[in-house]
Amino acid sequence: ISPDDPNPATLVRLQHLFEVNGDKLSQIAKHMVAEMKKGLATDDSTLKMIPTHVVRRPKGDETGSYLALDLGGTNFRVCEVTLDGRGGTRVRQSKHTVTDDLKNGTGAALFDFFAECVKQFLLSDDQKEVTDKDLHTNEFKLGFTFSFAVNQVSINSGFLMGWNKGFSASDCVGKDAVVLLQDAFRRKRMNVSVTALVNDTTGTLVSHAYSAPDTYVGVILGTGTNAAYVEKIENITKYKKDPAGAKDMIINTEWGAFDDEMVVIPRTKYDHKVDRGTANAKSWTFEKLISGMYLGEICRYVLVDLVKTGEIYIAGGTKSKTLSVPHAFETAFMSRIERDHSLDLSDVRTVLEDLMHIPGTTLADRRLTKAICEMIGKRAARLSAAGIAAIVTKMNKLDGCTVGIDGSLFELYPHFSNRMRDAMHEILGFSAENIVLEQARDGSGQGAALIAALAGKLT
Ligand code: ADP
Repeated sequence: ISPDDPNPATLVRLQHLFEVNGDKLSQIAKHMVAEMKKGLATDDSTLKMIPTHVVRRPKGDETGSYLALDLGGTNFRVCEVTLDGRGGTRVRQSKHTVTDDLKNGTGAALFDFFAECVKQFLLSDDQKEVTDKDLHTNEFKLGFTFSFAVNQVSINSGFLMGWNKGFSASDCVGKDAVVLLQDAFRRKRMNVSVTALVNDTTGTLVSHAYSAPDTYVGVILGTGTNAAYVEKIENITKYKKDPAGAKDMIINTEWGAFDDEMVVIPRTKYDHKVDRGTANAKSWTFEKLISGMYLGEICRYVLVDLVKTGEIYIAGGTKSKTLSVPHAFETAFMSRIERDHSLDLSDVRTVLEDLMHIPGTTLADRRLTKAICEMIGKRAARLSAAGIAAIVTKMNKLDGCTVGIDGSLFELYPHFSNRMRDAMHEILGFSAENIVLEQARDGSGQGAALIAALAGKLT
């Protein structure tokens, strides 16, 4: 072998650890279908299968102007969505970062921040010239996309079951997210009524269906991962309310917690290390194998281990302090590394030497780094595909439907969608051709506005 190639023994060992072959994927999908069924009947399943109370998908003829507030994980957006009644929308939005201090401070401070962002957003509309006085005289209707597991008791009420994705704000778990937000508006004397509480997966499904009516599944592959789909109400046996003539309801699967009992997916010691470093250890473990918040961290643990065993970065691995900083190796770095097709992997060098401060990398080091990113990125794509295959199988939609997918991982990580497609083929065979995976951009805010519009129609 050439000195520019990584040690084949190292490569094979790691490949073996991270590989999830077609048979295993089918097994995983099958287990997920079983857990879905269990979760529709009882609370005793890793899949919470939350009834969203959204019983209609849009027809495309909805009209009106709605506010939406979208808390995903990394980003927080305020939008005003105007529905044109012909399947089109006009969106004005502002984007904010939720700092770690806000994520981990008091609930009141977090929700005050949301209300303040809405206030500034409304005051900054140069077309309508909204004044301070208008804020408490005019009524604004708002759909709240709150992408955490809530026990949803109605379209505009849901109790937070637990935080994930790095949030731990106090006095929120067990509380109604709508009341928390509504109280924050009241403290600022703003006349905003929160008419819909929506999960981002549901929002993505609904907004994608506004323009692509064959959409029956919404998936998020961003900071976290989750999926929602359309289920027959008669199958949701734990749902005891009268659905008022409706036949279908969107179910929020909360698949991030799939296999938390660890019976079907092979895990590596690196996955366990990542899990132990989180605020919600031993839960949402499926998410921790897949989403943007964790992939870079899995990679970092592998690299740290290989530095210890002397299998990588012999010249400078031990000199890098950055490599031992949690989350210093970002998932976006993996994207950059996988996108580098230059002969000497010069961009991989930039990431390793300039951003991770590992001096003197060899071509073999860089090739090994790229191969590791590929293994971890591929596994994430394949596991999420197993989830989609399970949902489509459960819905009996193997003859065709569209899946709207939102999130930076799906949008920006090279080969992610192709890897998903390959895995879908391995699990579903030719039927995979009938399942369309489509990018849904910023759909969750728009979806919240649509659901606010649909909720208005129902009452
Ligand atoms: P959210 O899920 O919070 O609404 P995003 O969909 O933008 O927001 O996802 C943010 C996540 O995407 C972060 O965890 C980040 O690590 C990851 N990310 C950002 N840029 C990239 C990229 N170029 N490639 C892969 N992942 C990325």
